[in-house]
Amino acid sequence: MAEASAKLSVPTLESLGLARDRPLVIVDVDEVLGLFMKGFGAFVAERGYELRFERFALFQNLFQPGASEHLDIVEGRKLFDEFFRTGCGEIEPAPGAVAALRRLKPRAELLILSNAPAEAERLRGEWLKRHGLPPVLILSSGPKGPITAGLVAQTNAKSAFIDDLLPNLDSVAEHSPRTATFQHVADLRLRPLAPRSERHPRIDDWRELGEAIEAAIS
Ligand SMILES: [Mg+2]
Repeated sequence: MAEASAKLSVPTLESLGLARDRPLVIVDVDEVLGLFMKGFGAFVAERGYELRFERFALFQNLFQPGASEHLDIVEGRKLFDEFFRTGCGEIEPAPGAVAALRRLKPRAELLILSNAPAEAERLRGEWLKRHGLPPVLILSSGPKGPITAGLVAQTNAKSAFIDDLLPNLDSVAEHSPRTATFQHVADLRLRPLAPRSERHPRIDDWRELGEAIEAAIS
């Protein structure tokens, strides 16, 4: 909707401290740079709930122990929000992600684009710094195509976008067709459940993914 896109505010690369004349690589956090399901599973377990790996739909995987019906979506949402407010600084980096981004750093501007509640900003920002990951973080919501297009439009250099979710990858392909898209699913248990698409190369190994990103922006 025109009204929705008018409200979208895209920061300037300059205000983010990013150069406009170098390739831009935009990377998701949950299930790309960090093991969200593992961390969220531990968080809900401490509160007496169970996170199962039955579907590629988060809130349908939350249960009371032993229950056959998943937890009410509203209850699940509360746990999710609480996790981002207080627990998201504890997740483990995805294997190989830190090293791969370190190798990309001399070749590209790196920007972290995460669909997490605004309350996550401090913990998520500290998490990135603590693990030596790129510090430039945008917290967003909804499909990531429009904001990616707004960022990419500020540079003539090549760009790449990495996410686990096809709706975000499709949205970027639609709004920013010259951006190379890659799908990465970090959690071993989620990999067989995550839908894939011919439109976006699926590379679950970060070493291999880092090389593919480098080739795409060279
Ligand atoms: Mg994600």
